[in-house]
Amino acid sequence: MSSPPAPIAPGGTIGILGGGQLARMLSIAAARLGLRAHVFCQTPDQTVAEVAGSATVADFEDEAALAAFAEAVDVVTFETENIPVASAEFLAARVPVRPSAHCLAVAQDRLTEKTFLREAGIVTADFAAVDSPADLEAALREIGLPAVLKTRRFGYDGKGQFLIREPGQTGDAWKAVNGAPSILEAFVPFECELSVIAARGLDGGIACFDAVRNEHENHILSKTIAPAGLPDLLYGQAQAMARRIAERLDYAGVLGVEMFLVPGAEPSLYVNEIAPRVHNSGHWTIDACAISQFEQHVRTICGWPLGAPVRHSDAVMTNLIGDQVAGWQDLGRQPGLAVHIYGKEEIRPGRKMGHVTQLFPLGSLDEDAPATTARTRSLKLPPEKIGSRP
Ligand code: AMP
Repeated sequence: MSSPPAPIAPGGTIGILGGGQLARMLSIAAARLGLRAHVFCQTPDQTVAEVAGSATVADFEDEAALAAFAEAVDVVTFETENIPVASAEFLAARVPVRPSAHCLAVAQDRLTEKTFLREAGIVTADFAAVDSPADLEAALREIGLPAVLKTRRFGYDGKGQFLIREPGQTGDAWKAVNGAPSILEAFVPFECELSVIAARGLDGGIACFDAVRNEHENHILSKTIAPAGLPDLLYGQAQAMARRIAERLDYAGVLGVEMFLVPGAEPSLYVNEIAPRVHNSGHWTIDACAISQFEQHVRTICGWPLGAPVRHSDAVMTNLIGDQVAGWQDLGRQPGLAVHIYGKEEIRPGRKMGHVTQLFPLGSLDEDAPATTARTRSLKLPPEKIGSRP
């Protein structure tokens, strides 16, 4: 293996495609290391501009803006997988793009992603490509019911998905995906959802945080419990899967790997999807680790040594969705609760407005009946008033 490129020293600039809270937290982490952030976002209202040193507002397809951005930065990364691969390739011809345009291409299409995972020897739900109602009928015969129809691209937080329980629902399912190129997946009867945040450096070194347990409400991540409360063997298996994925992709940066834990005499792990970026289920690392997922990402894309993925506390991270953020004063009064607010002006239903992290003594969430302990101890927020406006 050739020697890794020279690291980007303090004073250098990382370019971030996308302007949401992930870019904001990456910019903050970069600043802590003496690095500058230059964000490239498509709309001017992105709150990341408050914390990044510079911002470009242009379409991701605007080649003149991309070329100028490439000139202004030392490395490019992204906070969302919904970046045109052609734009990442255009940038990569001018400046290092980490993770690569290839990783982006694999992760932004569920069919390519699941095919890659299977070829890498990773267990996934059975799946089939669906491009027409006839394909859907054929895929259902192959995969059986229940099954989940998902658009191949641009799906997030359960959008563009339909759970088919009965044969009569195929028309509704096809409507739900708007007739877009899709994938049919066997329904996985999981006990819980887990994720692993892994990082791979430019020298090929890999560091993984412990697997965490994720709970969703209305298809949006609500809580992450760190650690997940698993037998040691499963922690090891979850990390080994994330490692294998990172290696096979020749990955650079932080990677989120979402998994299902399927119960049985021998519980097994299925990978649901990979996120080629920092991930919501890694936000707890800001408060519970010396080196967060955001700093780890900045370190890896800049060629710095990997930080140790060590937790000094157990943690429960709770997202503040929509008008839950209005409770910031009460949350702020709770000693030891780390409050993070993303500075978004408009509260919209289902919008991630901030998060809070509660810390617990190391090992306390993994004792006895871990999931129950974590749940009973974890913060209760009033439910989001769906549909409410500020
Ligand atoms: P995704 O967009 O693939 O992350 O799916 C959103 C959510 O739908 C997941 O977090 C699961 O709760 C559920 N889900 C997705 N795929 C499946 C599946 N094949 N079997 C069971 N549940 C699923």
